[in-house]
Amino acid sequence: MRRALVAGNWKMNGSTDFISELMAELVAGIQTSDVDVLVCPPAVYLSQVKSLSSSLISVGAQNVSENSEGAFTGEISLSMLNDLGCNYVILGHSERRSLYAESDAVVADKFIATVTAGLMPILCVGETLEEREEGKTLEVVGRQLKAVIDVAGIEAFASAVIAYEPIWAIGTGKTATPDQAQDVHAAIRAMIAEHDAKTASAIRILYGGSVNASNAAELFANDDVDGGLVGGASLKANDFIAICHAA
Ligand code: PGA
Repeated sequence: MRRALVAGNWKMNGSTDFISELMAELVAGIQTSDVDVLVCPPAVYLSQVKSLSSSLISVGAQNVSENSEGAFTGEISLSMLNDLGCNYVILGHSERRSLYAESDAVVADKFIATVTAGLMPILCVGETLEEREEGKTLEVVGRQLKAVIDVAGIEAFASAVIAYEPIWAIGTGKTATPDQAQDVHAAIRAMIAEHDAKTASAIRILYGGSVNASNAAELFANDDVDGGLVGGASLKANDFIAICHAA
């Protein structure tokens, strides 16, 4: 049995006041340990969020450097995230890939560094609308996965999470249908199974892309959908709590 995970990706949003309020509401509203709950604030607020969090809400980062320390202005290391008590790192989000030119190779390096440091990567994969319309969804997702498997080895996926996030569904209000999500999730699991069946059945595959309080339950009801990576709706306490309860 896979344990569901609901992760909030706050992206570049928030302020100390906003976060104090949001965390107070989340801590009050999330009392169940039936599902793993994670929030990923902007890095400058990780300490604040960690200090306001409860034992039922983990804290993670939205990105990390593949390098361990030194002359990398503006970057944040895994040892810093460990130091603050972070357990997860979102990697290869489509915004990082498209706006900050993170290649499959860079994402693979970050993935290895994260697993080696004992944190759990949430590896994001997903196709553009054009790629979907051309029938290339599985080819794209397969390429993104293979880039990491080839470098990190399938063993590294024993302590990783995958998030399928169709780019056309991110921040657009246009969610994949439960069937579309299930089809890609099952295909991702099959790709992992080609390397190792045990890892494939254990790994959590989250769906991301306009998840909200009304569509979460039907998405999460699919066999291969093990929770969600939630952007916009994770900034609204009531919505995020409802999504956690739907998992
Ligand atoms: P969204 O973002 O829920 O706002 O679509 C999801 C994500 O980018 O992780």
